[in-house]
Amino acid sequence: MSGAAPRLKEAVHTAVERRAEEIAALSDELMRRPEPGYAEHATAERFAAWLAEAGLRPRTGLARTGVKALLHGGAGPRVALVGELDALTLPEHPLADPATGAAHACGHHAQIAAIAGAAVGLGEVMAELDGSVALIAAPAEEPGDVDAMLDAGDAPAERPDRVEFPVGKAELLRQGAFDDVDMALLAHTGRGGGPRFSVGDTLNGSCVVRARFTGRSAHAGSSPWLGVNALKAATVAAHALDARRETFPDGDDVRLNYRITGDAGALGSVPSAAALRTMVRARSVDGLGRAAEAVARAARAGALALGARVEIDTLLAYLPLDSAPELDDVVARNAHPLIGADTIARGRHLGACTDMGDLAHVMPVSHPYSGGAEGDHHSTGYRVVDHRAAAVEPALYLAGAVVDLLGDGAREARRVLRASPPPLSIPQYLALRRGMNRREIREET
Ligand SMILES: [Zn+2]
Ligand SMILES: [Zn+2]
Repeated sequence: MSGAAPRLKEAVHTAVERRAEEIAALSDELMRRPEPGYAEHATAERFAAWLAEAGLRPRTGLARTGVKALLHGGAGPRVALVGELDALTLPEHPLADPATGAAHACGHHAQIAAIAGAAVGLGEVMAELDGSVALIAAPAEEPGDVDAMLDAGDAPAERPDRVEFPVGKAELLRQGAFDDVDMALLAHTGRGGGPRFSVGDTLNGSCVVRARFTGRSAHAGSSPWLGVNALKAATVAAHALDARRETFPDGDDVRLNYRITGDAGALGSVPSAAALRTMVRARSVDGLGRAAEAVARAARAGALALGARVEIDTLLAYLPLDSAPELDDVVARNAHPLIGADTIARGRHLGACTDMGDLAHVMPVSHPYSGGAEGDHHSTGYRVVDHRAAAVEPALYLAGAVVDLLGDGAREARRVLRASPPPLSIPQYLALRRGMNRREIREET
């Protein structure tokens, strides 16, 4: 740590504390105005207005709704502080928007308030730092309408607002919003009852496999033998999938969640259409590939058994997350004095996914979890109840981490970059992502 770091952090903390009530109020305001992925217009506008008021010049409309602004210091590495704009579709949540069903059941509103607060603090000291900061509000961390995305797979690419990927950070990477960024930090609210702070957790990657079965309708009472029951094909596929669960190697951490939908035809008729949609999660890209192939194989088995046609589409949602340990150390060192050592966890494996996993393939990232929420993520009971813990504390420790990284000739940031070089370039990452998408059609009639 540089000799000047304590003084700079003091200045940052004083500036954040002066606005603490406003930062908490911003988190609460955004929580009550949830918007679905790639449609977070009001949230993005509010964040951009906050930045403009702080004297910054935000760019808006990145990957439809993303916002980016720069805080300039001396020449040196650039650290991104990232927040997520979107809410989750969960219409039964008590704070859901009745029009869209979106609800902040993942606490992303607190991230936007946290980086808004960090910007205010860092504004005081940028002139003394050897590097710059990008504030990036990213759209659509939760994959939205995956069916629409699968069906648009071959659509013309020319429309300027076209989105290729189901998650926002992948789309921002494709559009170049991270080209000038060297490392990224994002603080997510944790689960209710969990640790007050954790860092260095690994997360699964995931893809969606959609198998659509087509059979032939017939009278279900008088002549069912003339039909091909697509719903039965889907249920056979689901049984085949369940039979595979224990065949995945330990360490792949595979999770398979599926839903079967049939057509809306009469009960007296043999169903001619059905779909099995599976969210496949795994700890590594290879593990994800193995699990997705097992799902495709199960879908083929269902079609074969019944003599149906099946279209199998695989769409990558998230890459697995491994954060950079040296960057996690810097964040932990700054959270520690605020939060207390006995409430800190480190290095768990979580079955969930985040598109910070995508960023982690092209730059060092840290993805700590904060406190302040109650209930389980993605449940109707999830809600931020302590905006200081969810937004103000992350503002303080993220800004403090930036001071450590970019102070003293940015020695700490350069050390992180040397210790955790990115596994892929952005073009290599995009090729990996696109290479995992598949389409297969089988006629087992
Ligand atoms: Zn979520
Ligand atoms: Zn989330």
